[in-house]
Amino acid sequence: MAPYLLGLRLGGRRVLVVGGGRVAQRRVPALLAAGAEVVLVAPEVTPALDDLIRDGRVTWHARPYAQGDCAGAWLVQAVTDDGKVNGAVAAEAEAARIWCVRADDADASAAWTPASGQVGETTVGVLAGGDPRRAAGIRDAVVDGLRDATLEGRHSRHKPVGVALVGGGPGDPGLITVRGRQLLAQADVVVTDRLAPRELLDELAADVEVVDAAKIPYGRTVTQDRINDYLVEYARQGKFVVRLKGGDPFVFGRGGEEVIHCARHGIPVTVVPGITSAVAAPSAAGIPVTHRGVAQDFHVVSAHIAPDAAASTVDWQALGRAQGTLVLLMAVERMALIAETLVRYGRTPDTPVAVVQDGTLPGQRTVTATLATVAGVMEAEAIRPPAIVVVGDVVAVAREVDMIRADLGRDP
Ligand code: SAH
Repeated sequence: MAPYLLGLRLGGRRVLVVGGGRVAQRRVPALLAAGAEVVLVAPEVTPALDDLIRDGRVTWHARPYAQGDCAGAWLVQAVTDDGKVNGAVAAEAEAARIWCVRADDADASAAWTPASGQVGETTVGVLAGGDPRRAAGIRDAVVDGLRDATLEGRHSRHKPVGVALVGGGPGDPGLITVRGRQLLAQADVVVTDRLAPRELLDELAADVEVVDAAKIPYGRTVTQDRINDYLVEYARQGKFVVRLKGGDPFVFGRGGEEVIHCARHGIPVTVVPGITSAVAAPSAAGIPVTHRGVAQDFHVVSAHIAPDAAASTVDWQALGRAQGTLVLLMAVERMALIAETLVRYGRTPDTPVAVVQDGTLPGQRTVTATLATVAGVMEAEAIRPPAIVVVGDVVAVAREVDMIRADLGRDP
């Protein structure tokens, strides 16, 4: 017969645990977490149980079980390693109409402990016909599904509202945050970018509307305004909108403008940080942006506007003089001029440079050069966006690691 699953609210109610070994050690914390008043009967206890006793969280009677111990308990756990003792405990409980769980003999047990887990306010309990491993496996799958919201998704009562600006990470779909994935799974509408990881969209339910921001109609110059309007329009229809961006939404992503626009229109907006390509692309290529004794600072620079353009607000002179690592975004088309500018303002022409294209993606590749040679190398290697340019001695750290590995490989 199938068991009848209950959620016991044990707050302030006495639970008798007979036995002080490993099973007790596993069950007592869960009973305490449910607020039970735990009374433990056992001649000896494990160190972990002893800690709980000393903290005053468990009452311990340091002796073997004796007839009459069940009196006053709402629930009994018979978890000694002696079947006879467990049987005697169960018999006393049965006679007193108290539910008793026997650890040693599932068939003889009046009640079973499900594999359980807690995610927010949801408690999961799984019984798998007396197969505890299978129950634990199913519990894990359900708990994982709840954590990343793939299980309940958009039909939850706790569905978020408004707009969430979600950083999708640098490209590898595994590098979005857990929170980002959760919100994505709950979205009614996803407004996405060219650089946001595509694979994440494949997981969405068929009725989720996916809007490619690059394809929103109207002239090019007003595209950002149209995106802003879209976010507000959808949110006003009561839809939960995820604005999915590459990297971090606030690193050269115009996320700030979108937040301001939503705020102006009274739309609640949350921001979920993402792993920025500025750090992740170098790191995926083995280049640490800081390294003890080599670089204590790193500068993340947009090269979207050329160094010699009037509209540039970047202090290239200071970057030329600075010692730290430079991380250049959107620099592919202008690298000759940038390298020249940096050398003019103080960097030596032989400063190491690495260019990481498609960082963290399957097609990731790195080319290395110096400030003197980088433009030519990039052209010869046909480097295309998206790519990150790293300037500074940290580039050599990746080479050092490669050399160490090669040396080890050569050893007999
Ligand atoms: N918000 C994003 C940056 C947007 S600007 C972030 O935090 O990562 C776009 C630039 O980011 C590209 O021109 C390129 O320089 C860089 N970029 C984004 N993804 C990249 C990747 N996977 N590999 C290398 N560079 C990348």
